[in-house]
Amino acid sequence: MAAAKHITRQANNLIGGKWVRARTRHTFEDRNPANAGDLVGVFPASGAHDVADAVAAAKEAFQSWRLVPAPKRAEILFRAGELLTARKEQYARDMTREMGKVLIESRSDVQEAIDTAFYMAGEGRRLFGQTTPSELPNKFAMSVRAPVGVCGMITPWNFPMAIPSWKLFPALVCGNTCVIKPAEDTPLSALHLVETLIDAGLPKGVVNIVFGFGPEAGAPLVEHPDVTAISFTGSSEVGRWVGQTAAACMKPCSLEMGGKNAMIVMEDANLELAVEGALWGAFGTTGQRCTATSRILLHKKIARPFTQQLVERAGRLRVGDGLKKDVQMGPQVNEQQIETSRRYVEIALWEGATLLTGGKRLQGKAHAPGCFFAPTILSGVLPTMRIAQEEVFGPVVTLLQFDSLEQAIEIANSVSYGLSASIYTRDVNRGYQAMRDLETGIVYINAPTIGAEVHLPFGGVKQTGNGHREGGIGALDFYTTWKSVYVDYSDRLQRAQID
Ligand code: ADP
Repeated sequence: MAAAKHITRQANNLIGGKWVRARTRHTFEDRNPANAGDLVGVFPASGAHDVADAVAAAKEAFQSWRLVPAPKRAEILFRAGELLTARKEQYARDMTREMGKVLIESRSDVQEAIDTAFYMAGEGRRLFGQTTPSELPNKFAMSVRAPVGVCGMITPWNFPMAIPSWKLFPALVCGNTCVIKPAEDTPLSALHLVETLIDAGLPKGVVNIVFGFGPEAGAPLVEHPDVTAISFTGSSEVGRWVGQTAAACMKPCSLEMGGKNAMIVMEDANLELAVEGALWGAFGTTGQRCTATSRILLHKKIARPFTQQLVERAGRLRVGDGLKKDVQMGPQVNEQQIETSRRYVEIALWEGATLLTGGKRLQGKAHAPGCFFAPTILSGVLPTMRIAQEEVFGPVVTLLQFDSLEQAIEIANSVSYGLSASIYTRDVNRGYQAMRDLETGIVYINAPTIGAEVHLPFGGVKQTGNGHREGGIGALDFYTTWKSVYVDYSDRLQRAQID
């Protein structure tokens, strides 16, 4: 394993079953955020012509893939799940090396892809439609799921294998073909996923991968007329453009964007459990999850002891290279993210917040070559401050206070996002009230705002997305279209609503 650390992967695009260089002949580097001197890989920086080639390959492959029986398509996913299981450790190490999160989290990212493979493979023998009585005699009515065609996928770097798997696996079992453009910070993990599918027996052209940057390689995928559906996960800014562009072409489009997730801690909560949850929710994945706990709303009665414990524990978190055994929090993914965290701390202080711990880049001997930012806690935050409204996507958490559950829910709901929320309480009535009134796509009771499981719908309300869901059977609704079929065996003309 130690030797693998220094290998630099040279990769190409996969188009129509062939590994090809980008027509642009340009490349980009994939570097380790814990150690800028470690070159993880060199990947093609593709352009519109490469995307067009990939879409043409996917379009051609669709004509045969859609006719492969779904249980047979599913067998390939089962095999992919088995291969991922066998390769889990190697893929997790490479993932930590390319994006920084600690090894147990990279393992869980690969595990999520494994879970999704098996879950979606199971759908190969379901993909249920409906049968329903016809209003006319001797007539049969049913609705069946049909694939949508060529699906374009644009993915972020924070879950470099899990998120591509949430998109690819349901799309494939439903009979679609795919072109994926993974994030430029994490091309290797997406490559591993696609290589696994090929090794599992996926026919040529069914999945194509085009590496590169957003404007050059992502935008042409969204705009291409032969891409019949687009699934995007990333920033609100880019997501808005993707949604508008897809709408202009009448393309179904699934958007999953930001969050500003609140954890409510009631006065009757198990405080130790809540502190533990807050640490995991706020600093797991270095705060770089769209579901990260970024606002902790504290009942005034417990605010002081909770804050003391949280600050003390956060100050003790071991920050470093995620491949090292005792490290609890890895680096941020790149310099730009570090700068965002730094700037938001500056904004918060300017707005009147108090810095309780962290707030700066870590540059000691152990941290110098990497993008490390200290776990940061800000108190004295008011709900209307920018630091309480805008997504940071770094290890920066804010503390706010409230007097009643109603007020806490109002604060929790007072942001433009609606992805995830949580409440710590031992009062079942208040738990249910929060479950009903929190305006988010995901609610946790006595757990932090992170930790989705693949067989439940994942996504949010308000500016978090545009109403679609990944995970669970919600994903099938995006990757299929309903076809209603009427079979008349009466041997005469029967007119609906007339006869
Ligand atoms: P982040 O700031 O977290 O990197 P982005 O929205 O910039 O989020 O990136 C998410 C994905 O969207 C990446 O794969 C990126 O390359 C892609 N992307 C960025 N800009 C565009 C664009 N203009 N068109 C299409 N895709 C884009």
